[in-house]
Amino acid sequence: MQISITKTTAPKAKPDWNKLGFGKYYTDHMFIMDYVAGEGWIDARIVPYQPLQLDPAAICLHYGIEIFEGMKAYPGKDGKVRLFRPADNAARINRSGARLCMPHLPEEMFVEAVKTLVDVEREWVPTLPDTSLYIRPFIIANEAQLGVHVANRYQFIIILSPSGAYYPEGLNPVKIYVEDEYVRAVRGGTGFTKCGGNYAAAMIAQQKAHELGYSQVLWLDGVERKYINEVGAMNIMFRIDDEIVTPDLEDGTILPGVTRDSVLKIAKDWGIAVSERRISVEELADAARSGRLKEAWGTGTAAVVSPVGELRYEDEVFVIGGGQIGEYTQRIYDELTGIQWGKREDKFGWTMEF
Ligand SMILES: *Cc1c(COP(=O)(O)O)cnc(C)c1O
Repeated sequence: MQISITKTTAPKAKPDWNKLGFGKYYTDHMFIMDYVAGEGWIDARIVPYQPLQLDPAAICLHYGIEIFEGMKAYPGKDGKVRLFRPADNAARINRSGARLCMPHLPEEMFVEAVKTLVDVEREWVPTLPDTSLYIRPFIIANEAQLGVHVANRYQFIIILSPSGAYYPEGLNPVKIYVEDEYVRAVRGGTGFTKCGGNYAAAMIAQQKAHELGYSQVLWLDGVERKYINEVGAMNIMFRIDDEIVTPDLEDGTILPGVTRDSVLKIAKDWGIAVSERRISVEELADAARSGRLKEAWGTGTAAVVSPVGELRYEDEVFVIGGGQIGEYTQRIYDELTGIQWGKREDKFGWTMEF
């Protein structure tokens, strides 16, 4: 793939690495590549960060033909930058795209585009402990066409945002609300894809949870509202007795997280029993009442591991692990962040360093 590079003539001042937060600052450059039916992916380019030229009739604006990925470049003490399992994000954007009738994007193109852009923006990779450069690749249907049909034109774009430590004061347990009115995904739907539409449909429950004093929603299945699905933008795991239990991906309603898969592989490697299966909210409530629910945590690229200190289901509130970080949660967090930031041995060969 040929990528043309046009450097900005007006580089921005770097933000204070101590005050990055999430998604507030964007780097000097972005990657864009067009897709035209009949021609394929063309004109890969890195250009100064700028607003898009978009026809008001662009399909993505009307029918939500948009998918995205979320990944990070991690700064290492050794001066190297590391990507974590980028080929898995490439494979996933194609599973999302296939569901929305979007064109296939060769995986090596995806990885090369990410790597080249991050390399151009090396100075934007923050260097403080636990900071990272958040990477947001996405594809939009940009054909101007109000008729509802499969689009002929798309853009694959990557933007980068330096991000602060997710837990500046150490791992902090969150309170989660079990949503039993709205649903996120149904069998046959788009739950397994990372598409903007899933987030649009989820917003109202997120707002409701916030109003009730909870930071995230735990979704139930879309049919019976009986089985645990996933959290807002994270997969969910429980420690029941000494086993890790997490919903299986069989019915296509759950986003297959790269972090989820990594945590399961690490836990198995340590000899911890892992079970991917259906878990009813009643089973979970019983385990909580009898003291067998020892830990719960969400997994996702943003937070890596997010301990759950409290679950509310209908009118019952379950405090998990005394609202403290559990042993498994901490151990998994330390191991995975250790690999990502290049502090621990990467025995699975997950990182790509450059
Ligand atoms: C992105 C995402 C996740 C987490 O996936 P990771 O690959 O681990 O970052 C989980 N659930 C939803 C709905 C997501 O969009």
